[in-house]
This record gives sequence, structure tokens and C-alpha cells, in this order.
Amino acid sequence: MRGAWRSLWVLAASFAVTDAAAILRSKDRLVGNIADVAPFYHTGAQIHDAAVALAKTSQTGGCGDLAIEVGQRSDDKGPSTLDVVTVTRRSSAATGNGSSLLQRRSLRRSTQTNTASDGVRAMLVYGEHARELISPESGLHLLKTLCNIGNASGSGSGTNAGGLSAALGGASELKLVLNANPRSRGEVEAGNYCLRTNEDRVDLNRNWGEHFNPKVESDETNPGPSGFSEPETRILRDIATEFQPHLFLTVHSGALLLGTPFGYTNNQPPGPKEEKMIRVLTPISDKYCDCPFGSLAKVINYEAPGNSIDYAFEDLNVPFAFTWEIYANQDLMDYYHWSRKEQKEEKKAGGAMEAAEKKMGASKDPAAVLAWSLDPKSPAPGADDATSLVQRSNKERRMGQMLSGLEPAGDASQNGDCFSQFNPASEGEYHAVLDKWTNAYRDLLSSVSAEVVAAGAASAISLSLSLSLSLSLSSLSVLSRSLSLALSLSLSLSLSLSP
Ligand SMILES: [Zn+2]
Repeated sequence: MRGAWRSLWVLAASFAVTDAAAILRSKDRLVGNIADVAPFYHTGAQIHDAAVALAKTSQTGGCGDLAIEVGQRSDDKGPSTLDVVTVTRRSSAATGNGSSLLQRRSLRRSTQTNTASDGVRAMLVYGEHARELISPESGLHLLKTLCNIGNASGSGSGTNAGGLSAALGGASELKLVLNANPRSRGEVEAGNYCLRTNEDRVDLNRNWGEHFNPKVESDETNPGPSGFSEPETRILRDIATEFQPHLFLTVHSGALLLGTPFGYTNNQPPGPKEEKMIRVLTPISDKYCDCPFGSLAKVINYEAPGNSIDYAFEDLNVPFAFTWEIYANQDLMDYYHWSRKEQKEEKKAGGAMEAAEKKMGASKDPAAVLAWSLDPKSPAPGADDATSLVQRSNKERRMGQMLSGLEPAGDASQNGDCFSQFNPASEGEYHAVLDKWTNAYRDLLSSVSAEVVAAGAASAISLSLSLSLSLSLSSLSVLSRSLSLALSLSLSLSLSLSP
């Protein structure tokens, strides 16, 4: 019922802004249909069409040896359908891209694959949260870039010596879900820029079965009645279960950080698996975002039970599982750069929080402000006096505006604030964000591939060493038996010759 009212409101809102002159456009606010206020963004339908067009291009060799396919995945229990884009090397069976036979065999052995794919597999998920429009944009941009690189290689232009190996960063197969929350995304495009949840008003990144917590903390983070109650999470789970990726990445916005498991608790001590993930993330943070990384619950300062990377890591044994937050507005961006600086200096969390409070110029708990930055309708201390904050300094005024966004989105100005909180509002910034993160995704694919190959090769070497050792031992035992036989023969011979 509530959904129906909201839909009606969205419908009414979209009629209200048909006149372009009626669109309110200022530094902070974008109001109206996405095609009117930020036409450089794609709609969900356009993302689908662009992926299908790239698949067609690849079929005629337009992406070199890169093959792109777009499939649809649905669930017999729910009405949602997700597009799944599969990217492979057309001649992956030949694997003539530098990996040795030893590496390929060890890769096969080191994974619990139930697919025919022979190599590193990566699953990238975009748009779990509907309002984070920049996330699917970045996935589509990556796909276009891969096709261009593949084409540069395949057309023999000679400029891309790395060829497809460079295009896929060493991975042999990618699965991209470019729009993981398509039905709510349609509402966002119509102007409801604060909508995070799915069509049932469930937070898809709290609906996974691992450490699912049914407690409803806020409308924004409603986990649903049970783990995997939602069609979108079931479909994502089924794809990941079948594909058995080495890398699972879910991309979000509203913050700037690179998260590893666990999100459900910050009391889980880091293990050797986390060390490898940190090794992969450190250069990416240095090069692309200067942002904090590590255990998701720690870097976002709140616990997120039922999230996708905990499930991928714990239930599916995915060795590299990440949540990336790729865009925040300037105030929050400053905070994350500062937070990374603190992380480098390894200061105590308590001290860091105090300093953050000073920096943000508000008598708010920075942890709560940070939590709110990802989830504006989550509990945020000080919401009661948000109105009085508006009267103060500019920075505090902005904070007050953000905090006052705690109420359900009821007017267009709040929707405008949501757009620029989660997404770059200018075309220049939009392109800069896409270029930056597409390069980061490709670095991630390269680093994870290198880690997986190295781990596979190491386990192959240790297997071959133990095989050689046991062979040597059995040879030795054969040899020793031969020696004792020879000795006894010679003894008997000498005995026989003695008299
Ligand atoms: Zn998100």
C-alpha cells in the first residue's frame, strides 16, 4: 500500500516537472526526471540497451577476441529480472595469454569450480541501492572500456601489446550485474532520488542469509522478513553460487572507502585471508581515492548484518570479497581523506573520532554522521536539533540539512539533496569519477588475478615437491632393498668363496 502511494507520488512528481523551466537546478539540488536534470546519466533501459549493443559489437569481432553476452536471470518466486553480462576471451581454451600450464592446472585445482571456465573469475555487482546511480554507470563504462581495449588489440592497431590479457586484467571470465535493483531504479529515475531499497522497501544489502538480523533499525535498512526474501538477492546469490568467483565486488556510493569482510561485526579478528585482500586494496587506495580500507564494519563505523560480501566470503568461500564506495559529496570526501590519514598513522579509534568531530564542526557523533552518510534515514543523534543547526555556520548548515533528511522523502528539495549526496551532479565530475574507477576496477582484476595465480602456483609447487619427495622415498626404499639383496648375495658369494 505504502509502495502504491509512493508510486503515485512519483507519478505526480514526474508530471509536475514536465516543463523544463520548472526544473529547479542549483549547486546542491537536482529535481525532476533524470533525463531532464542530468541527461548524461543512463536510465536502466539505456544501460540494458547499451550492454546488448556491446554484445552485438563483440559478435562481429568489434571487441577483438572479447566475447560479451547479455542474459536475463529471473526467479520463479519473484517478478524481478536482472541482466547478467558475461565477458570472456573468445579463445579462452587456448589461454595463450602468458599463464603457464602449471599455473592453469593449479588454478583449476585451487578452486571448487563447477563451471567449465579455466582461470580467474570475477563477479561485479552494481546498483544494489537504487539511488546510487553512479555505481551502474561505472559498470557500464568498464564494459565499454573493455570492448575498446579488446578492439584495439584485435584490430591489430599494435598499440595494446598486452592484448586481451590487459583488457581483462588476467581474469578469464567476468560476470557483471549492472543494475541489481532495476524496479526501484525506475522510481529513482522518475525523481525519487532518495530511494535506496527495492520494490518491497527492503534493503538488498541487509537481505543476504549470512548473519541475517531481522531487526528493523530504520526504513532505509529494513532487512526484510527473512534472509533472501527478495528476488534480487536470491538471483545474485544463485549467480555467485554457480559461478564460484575468485573476486566478488559490490559497488556503492555515498561514501569513499574500500571494505572487506566482515560487515556484520567489527570484532572479527583479521585472518590471513584478509591480509591478501588488504595487499590488493592498499595500492588502489593510494592511487585512486586516498580513502580508508579494511573491515567494512570498521571503516563505515556501523554493523551491516546480512550484507553480500560476508555471504560471498563465508558461505561461498570467495577469497576476495569487497564493498567499494566510490563517491561522496565534498564534505564527506574530506572526512574520508582525513580518515585514511588517521588510518596510516594508526591512531586509536577514540582519538580519531574526537578529531573527526572537531573537523566536521558539529557536536554530532562522527560515527553516527558517517553511518548516516551511507544511510540518511538511519538513526542519527542530534536529529532533534537539526533545525537549529541550520541557523549556524555554513558547514553546520549543510550538516543540518543532511540530518534533516532523516524524514521520509516527502518533497522535491530533499530529493535534490539526495541526488548530489550519492552522485556527481556535474557532467565533468561524472566523467572524472567514471574514468578513475574504471581504471581502479582494472587494477583490481590484475591484482586479484596475480594473487590467485601465485597462490595456485604455490600450492602446485608444494604438491609437486611432496610428490617428488614421496617418489624419492619409495625409490630409496627400492634402492635399499636392492642394496641389501646385493649385499646378501655378495656375502653368500664371499662365504662360498671363503673356504
Ligand atoms: Zn549502497
